[in-house]
Amino acid sequence: MSVSVKAMLDRKGRDVFTIGANMTVGEAANLLHDKKIGAVIIVGVEGKIAGIFSERDVVTALARHGADALTTPVASVMTTNVFRCNEDATANQLMEVMSTRRFRHVPVEKDGKLVGMISIGDVVKNRIREIEEEAEHIKAYIAG
Ligand code: AMP
Repeated sequence: MSVSVKAMLDRKGRDVFTIGANMTVGEAANLLHDKKIGAVIIVGVEGKIAGIFSERDVVTALARHGADALTTPVASVMTTNVFRCNEDATANQLMEVMSTRRFRHVPVEKDGKLVGMISIGDVVKNRIREIEEEAEHIKAYIAG
């Protein structure tokens, strides 16, 4: 049985960095760098998810706009069709989605509100913990 997103958030915390759509790519890149994170959520009216902007989008903006990328609003580069999940989703489901759809961040919503973010790093960390626990159980079983 794969662990739930709720259990993962209980362990890692529920902080999510959000910005407005009028922030520039340069400012958003600074935020990603300062906070040592890979993506931010762009929120619109009433805090609803309007998009996601990740380090990959910095590269896209540079490729499309050259040096002007830095002053381009994130709104023109962010991904608006954001895949999100709720706390009942499982680590295995997110692993599958991240692998098939080739992104590394999934925002978590509860009652339409942003309540957390799961990154591929969180999923991998969780999987390593599961494998270590399984190995410990097997060792204890063999020894016992
Ligand atoms: P990432 O691998 O998360 O850095 O993102 C790669 C690309 O997918 C970027 O263009 C992101 O804007 C986009 N992306 C990241 N997370 C999601 C998501 N949950 N739903 C849709 N697109 C996403």
